[in-house]
Amino acid sequence: MITLKNIHQAAVQISDTINETPILTSTALSSICRNNMFLKSEHLQKTGSFKIRGATHKVKQAVQDGATYVTAASSGNHGQAVAYISDILGVPATIVVPEDATASKLNAIRDYNGEIEECGTTSAERLPRAKELAAKKNGVFIPPYDDPYIMAGQGTVGMEILKQLDDVDVVVVPIGGGGLISGILTAIKETKPHVKVIGVEPEIANDTHLSLENGIITSIPGTSTIADGLRTSQPGDLTFPIVQKYLDDLVLVSETEIQQALFFILERMKQVIEPSSAVAIAAAMFEKLGVQEKNIACVVSGGNLDVRKLGT
Ligand SMILES: *Cc1c(COP(=O)(O)O)cnc(C)c1O
Repeated sequence: MITLKNIHQAAVQISDTINETPILTSTALSSICRNNMFLKSEHLQKTGSFKIRGATHKVKQAVQDGATYVTAASSGNHGQAVAYISDILGVPATIVVPEDATASKLNAIRDYNGEIEECGTTSAERLPRAKELAAKKNGVFIPPYDDPYIMAGQGTVGMEILKQLDDVDVVVVPIGGGGLISGILTAIKETKPHVKVIGVEPEIANDTHLSLENGIITSIPGTSTIADGLRTSQPGDLTFPIVQKYLDDLVLVSETEIQQALFFILERMKQVIEPSSAVAIAAAMFEKLGVQEKNIACVVSGGNLDVRKLGT
């Protein structure tokens, strides 16, 4: 398990690379949610998502330990984050992507000078290839969530929320593989245990919900949720025990609710957020949190939206 100390160390190590993102508010959002809403705006983070926090901590550590090459298996925000920080540190990176990855995401990786290798269409094909490449060239494979450095890096979001919002009552966090929420849980429950942390998953990507219910890591078959950052099939071996220990509640949102939340934020707050972030706002908008008149921080985890897909 990671500790608060690990998160403080991460904060120091990544401070020269990442932004302390702002907290945005909206009267319209607060009134529709019947709570005071505060958006922790990681869509305004470098590379467009919080993933740069964990990736920076892990890649910097790998380089300090002598790595001269890194790999990752992701076409999404994690791949962009690893390419970005490797470029800054001057370490070559290969990002193994699915054959059907969208052009906009590949272009972002290329912009950060990441080398792209296409491999299959499933993570079961990509993961071994990324690990194999790393092993061949004396490099390090950078996992997306199930790693203490990644989790500690993501936990800095929780630390910042406590610093920026002294009287926060509830923190709402999207759950994919659980790197983000396990870091945030550690930061919050080991500092201010009375602050509630509620996780959110799409109804059709409810692997952590099922795992909690069963008391053991449970996987789901592939899912096509529009929240593409939350399509992991099961929680991580390292992330799940922290979720089990600390999480106050986990709520589910439908695909329509996710889309409606995203459109509301676009229209009323003029913010471009991606569906994986919109799940947290949807949970508040559709009154799934079970609280009223509280100070709620929603983690807006990223803004890498494929705008060409809007409205289709
Ligand atoms: C990766 C990601 C998540 C989920 O994070 P996990 O650490 O896998 O739980 C949520 N939102 C966005 C935008 C992401 O990129």
